[in-house]
Amino acid sequence: MRGLLRCATVFPRRAILLNFDLHNHSDASDGLLPPQSLVALAQRNACDALALTDHDTTAGVAAAAEAAREAGLRFVPGVEISVTWPNEGVWPDRGPVTLHIVGLNVDVSHPVLRDGLLSVRNGRRARAARMADALAEAGIPDTLEAAYALTGNEDMIGRTHFARVLVQRGAAKNVGQVFAKFLTSGRPGYVPHRWADLAGAVAWIRAAGGVPVIAHPGRYKLDDGERRQLFGEFRDLGGLAIEVVTGSHEPRQYGEFAAHARTFGLAASRGADYHGPGESRFEPGTLPPLPAGLTPVWDLF
Ligand code: AMP
Ligand code: MN
Ligand code: MN
Ligand code: MN
Repeated sequence: MRGLLRCATVFPRRAILLNFDLHNHSDASDGLLPPQSLVALAQRNACDALALTDHDTTAGVAAAAEAAREAGLRFVPGVEISVTWPNEGVWPDRGPVTLHIVGLNVDVSHPVLRDGLLSVRNGRRARAARMADALAEAGIPDTLEAAYALTGNEDMIGRTHFARVLVQRGAAKNVGQVFAKFLTSGRPGYVPHRWADLAGAVAWIRAAGGVPVIAHPGRYKLDDGERRQLFGEFRDLGGLAIEVVTGSHEPRQYGEFAAHARTFGLAASRGADYHGPGESRFEPGTLPPLPAGLTPVWDLF
């Protein structure tokens, strides 16, 4: 009996202390490093497992998986899907928000996921052209070609590539400042866009055998009621986890989202949201551990 009790209390603590880093970007989307370099960095930082979760694409997964296999590092295939929530007409008095839903441990060859991601990527090129026009009107001409030149994957051109161009041009000190001055809602270079809907993103991930996770829930401009509505709807659609410890949260938010995970019966994820040297708060594998009393998302793999 004593032995059993010891297992029950000790094992979850050990599981929670594993150094899993389940949110990272490569140059297949808007990260700076190729997948192989990301794996090498995770290895140097003593990760127990690394997930690659590029935006709306799994193009980097094969190269990362191969590099991780050679390095003897556990690898988790993933993706981060751009979502517009809620659906049109649900909030007549205000605009929807963009959410990111991470899919972990997905079968990247599953046709439902593959076709879904293709549908989300469509529209990025037209949006980029409109962003360049908007920036030109704001006095910063000729950014389109320069932004494409910074992509590792032209299909995935996005705001981060424009932000890096604007830093190079001296329009702001760093990428974060470019977003604040130009690339967020209400700013001169911002172009609204409709991404996947929440039900679709969750369904594609589940179809591909993966675990849907709400990425950095503390980053969205939602009030408390709207946030609870999101967690409830996500769970009812088949969502399974939220990020608690992430480089996209302020450390003071870890406890707040741990409490939400417990309240909604959702598992908890941990990931740096690493984009590259100088652009991220944490390198892969260097975040604090998950708070106690949570189900680590990797228990669901
Ligand atoms: P996109 O999918 O093209 O709209 O670009 C979204 C990406 O922009 C996010 O994944 C982040 O990498 C980056 N981003 C969004 N907001 C900010 C911000 N305030 N500061 C720095 N990077 C940001
Ligand atoms: Mn990004
Ligand atoms: Mn994100
Ligand atoms: Mn991310």
